[in-house]
Amino acid sequence: RLLTMRQSFVANVSHELRTPLTSIKGYAETLADGALDDRTAATRFIGIISTNADRLNQLLDDLLDLSRLESEQFRIEQRECDLRRLIDSSMATVRAPAERKGVALKFSMEDEHSVLCDAALMENALTNLLDNAVKYTPEGGRVEVGLRLEEERAWIDISDTGIGIPAADLDRIFERFYRVDKGRSRAMGGTGLGLAIVRHVVEAHGEQVLVQSEVGRGTTFGVSFTRI
Ligand code: ADP
Repeated sequence: RLLTMRQSFVANVSHELRTPLTSIKGYAETLADGALDDRTAATRFIGIISTNADRLNQLLDDLLDLSRLESEQFRIEQRECDLRRLIDSSMATVRAPAERKGVALKFSMEDEHSVLCDAALMENALTNLLDNAVKYTPEGGRVEVGLRLEEERAWIDISDTGIGIPAADLDRIFERFYRVDKGRSRAMGGTGLGLAIVRHVVEAHGEQVLVQSEVGRGTTFGVSFTRI
């Protein structure tokens, strides 16, 4: 089973690398074949080449994150973290894309709360969830970060008013490269690895990630933290 999994992973990675590479090569050749003289077309093609190079970069970043999380030497370093700081810094990276898209970002927290976690890793996981929430929410929508407290745990809920995920796909979205809609994910610059990274990070902490969704209405991902 491991061997089959590895083979299919390599096949998936190769396929994912090939798509942007084919596009880069194609547009470079078109430019070389004469499109360079047409300034408007050339500018557009160079833009496409650059977007695809970004996509390759993102894919490699995600693959490196995953491989680090899966390596045997991998250890998490859990320390006392301030939940507000963790959420603020996770939200910082999606602020600009949300604004460009006209998606409202909301978060409010009244009191201070300390949790136990590896801040860099949890920030990566929360950023991935926020990035998805913005990506899969149409213009004019809303992404909200909420806090639910239990005696020993704090749950961070990331809710969006986006396209939602069909019930039949909910079990599979945490698998590497699984996407509900490949075309849409690619168009949004997705790699299909974000949620696999989230699951690894959360499980390494011994915590949980839950998802609830309704097609056409929105999605909520909840991540648990241990309170201290
Ligand atoms: P991707 O890079 O494609 O976004 P992820 O692993 O982050 O990959 O997510 C896997 C799939 O789960 C996505 O392709 C998308 O179909 C679905 N998905 C994840 N988050 C959301 C969300 N907030 N709303 C709707 N669909 C989502």
